[in-house]
Amino acid sequence: MAPNTRPSKALGQHFLTDSRVLMRIASAAELTPQDLVLEIGPGTGALTRHLVSSGARVITIELDRGLAASLPERLGNPPNLTVVEADARTLDLELFLGSVTDYKVVGNLPYYAANPIIRRFLEATPQPRLIVATLQEEVAHTITAAPGKMGLLSVAVQYYAIPRLVCSVPPRAFRPPPKVNSAVIKLEIRDNPAVDVPGSQGFFDLVRAGFSSPRKQLRNSLSHGLGVSTQAVASLLSGLKMDSTRRPATMSLEDWATVYRAWEEFSENVPSD
Ligand code: SAM
Repeated sequence: MAPNTRPSKALGQHFLTDSRVLMRIASAAELTPQDLVLEIGPGTGALTRHLVSSGARVITIELDRGLAASLPERLGNPPNLTVVEADARTLDLELFLGSVTDYKVVGNLPYYAANPIIRRFLEATPQPRLIVATLQEEVAHTITAAPGKMGLLSVAVQYYAIPRLVCSVPPRAFRPPPKVNSAVIKLEIRDNPAVDVPGSQGFFDLVRAGFSSPRKQLRNSLSHGLGVSTQAVASLLSGLKMDSTRRPATMSLEDWATVYRAWEEFSENVPSD
């Protein structure tokens, strides 16, 4: 950490000190000297050091002014490192990336902002080629879940990317140790979204509605989220030969796409409650 400063809880500052974990993160990114990598939240630079030594061009985005200012010197002013002081949640990515079309994202992310940061890059134009992120293990499991354990976040990420769990990271790998376990995930961005739907915004509105009461049966959760009668939803699902009593967590992306296409077609004729 910067001289005379304490790690900021508000900024989710837990610094990785386990060199094996640092090496696994860096090697999951498969960096070559031809790569451009954005590192989110470099902190004291433990991971940055590994990224820089790959020869890739490294641009770090750090919100903490003191840490951002001290990073280049701390790492010996490597020529392939650029440090930007900014908030990764709100940075104007299109402006920032300019003419860049091919890049990767790596970060031991602050827990409080991990979801919005990942979402930002998944929805960015251009998208990164891959994302390697350390986040709360529970969140990592949701992102990588298969039908049976899916949540809204699983669908949102798997629509754009193929996720893989790289490794679990215990609290003792950090200073100060967080209260929960962490995990490293790797997201390989798909060339095209996982399902072919007419408009991702409408698709996600439907999926969000479907998870509005995740423990309820699908017909009840969708009815609640869409504001239409359970009978109308049940008849829509039976027209698709889909069991309306199943739980939202059992739905695959293709199942959601099937429901969405049918919903798009019939929504104007569905009577509301
Ligand atoms: N990469 C370092 C490591 O592994 O030791 C630090 C990781 S620490 C979990 C998260 C880092 O993200 C901190 O340095 C924190 O200041 C920074 N940070 C927090 N919120 C941020 C934001 N919105 N945008 C960019 N960086 C942020």
